[in-house]
Amino acid sequence: MLELAEPRLLRKAAFIGGSWSGGLTEIDVHNPADAELIASVPDVGASGAMAAIDAAEDALPRWTLLTARERARLLRRWYDLITRHKEDLARLLTIEQGKPLSESRAEVDYAAAYIEWFSEEARRIDGDVLPPHVEGKRLFVFKKSVGIVAAITPWNFPLAMITRKVGPALAAGCTMVLKPSELTPLSALALAWLGEEAGLPAGVFNVVTGIAGPIGEVLTRDSRVRKFTFTGSTDVGKSLAAECMKTVKRVSLELGGNAPFIVFDDASLEAAVDGAIASKFRNAGQTCVCPNRLLIQAGIYDQFAATLADRVSRLRLGSGLERDTEIGPLIDDRAVAKAERHIADAIARGGRLLTGGSRPNRAGSFFLPTVIADVPKDALLCREETFAPVAGLVRFGTEAEAISLANATSSGLASYLFTSDASRIWRLSDVLESGMVGVNTGSISTEIAPFGGIKESGFGREGSRYGIGEYLNLKFICLDVRAETPVDACGPA
Ligand code: NAP
Repeated sequence: MLELAEPRLLRKAAFIGGSWSGGLTEIDVHNPADAELIASVPDVGASGAMAAIDAAEDALPRWTLLTARERARLLRRWYDLITRHKEDLARLLTIEQGKPLSESRAEVDYAAAYIEWFSEEARRIDGDVLPPHVEGKRLFVFKKSVGIVAAITPWNFPLAMITRKVGPALAAGCTMVLKPSELTPLSALALAWLGEEAGLPAGVFNVVTGIAGPIGEVLTRDSRVRKFTFTGSTDVGKSLAAECMKTVKRVSLELGGNAPFIVFDDASLEAAVDGAIASKFRNAGQTCVCPNRLLIQAGIYDQFAATLADRVSRLRLGSGLERDTEIGPLIDDRAVAKAERHIADAIARGGRLLTGGSRPNRAGSFFLPTVIADVPKDALLCREETFAPVAGLVRFGTEAEAISLANATSSGLASYLFTSDASRIWRLSDVLESGMVGVNTGSISTEIAPFGGIKESGFGREGSRYGIGEYLNLKFICLDVRAETPVDACGPA
């Protein structure tokens, strides 16, 4: 049952041009813990997406011309409201996405931190004065907003995946049309309402809800959209990016991962097991940076496997709203079926089930947290992103073997490394093919650092002082100062 201290946070309409709008049909939003209907939101379709781009276009000139300080103040007000409504936002997030309430609270903080960070960065968008290449020239670099941004975000972090995009976009002077996942639109709409309350002008931030295909077609094809930012699976990202190239939009892609989690014999067993629990089992294994392959050196393998299996078997499964729940449901039955397929494949190839391995005896899309030992490197668990609370352990002997196993993937989002050998830390951090490396920790995400991948995990960075550059074009101005002013009057160049 969804009870909110501020009931107006539950929005059942899309947000276009500052108005709460309906659609021709509706889509239902269900609680994955019990399949109960929470609310219905409109499917705005292609015409709604077009109306949202119109609104973003109307709002753009005024928004871009505000001073950075004015934009920063509005973002800061938005941040304050998000934190003020943290408890309600966390409940809404848990009920539509499934994660435990404690994790939802952490996500609200994390999401809000991006708005706060970029409210501060808004005032630091400066330019450059370059040394001229010839006498009498002055060279300047300005940073200009890219214009209208379209964003598509997934269901696994229904708030944070949005604020990482809208924070820098608005700070840079862009306007935005967002399409959240149809599985978790309610958090996005609550965020939009808080933006409205904070005083964001109409059309600056628009949220269109509905079936992805037709909306995505408009957002990727319309030539007024100058930047497309996507977080989601690699296959969908590739095809949407290809569409964007027809109008040569700037594109950022935050795509799937297949993170290696490497534990050497000299690692602290306790830190490694804590790290595995924190990163593999958070959000029931449904995070893009979660370890997909646990590569464990032979000398520590048996002890690590036994300790991890023991800890995992004691994780408390339940609805995210229940007290003490550590593992919530998966997002839907398709996700459960994928976990089952990966486990059956690993066992058929010689894997040993240490704990879990099946659905529990309760309704909802739950899956028991699972550990499988002796998973061969050609198993689906190693080749595909599992996105479930399933840890597959692979044994290795030498450092060279670990590197080769870790890099044997087309993904390159995150890697994790546990060792007490200082030179090995630097050697491996250098050669691991990923955008981010966690050393002796399973928790790496923060608004302060650049988040993003290499290889088929995408390009572009979110968060940090680098993140705002994704929403800015460089403009170079070359000024000839000789016509009016004699060169010698300028003094030394
Ligand atoms: P997904 O199926 O690719 O969906 C992501 C978003 O794309 C959703 O909003 C979805 O809408 C939309 N979408 C799907 N097909 C579309 C189409 N044909 N046209 C336009 N939009 C379309 O991925 P997901 O299952 O939601 O998310 C999990 C994936 O995201 C994993 O691979 C995970 O690793 C990745 N991820 C990456 C990062 C990162 O920072 N690198 C962060 C989080 C997640 P609907 O849901 O409404 O269909």
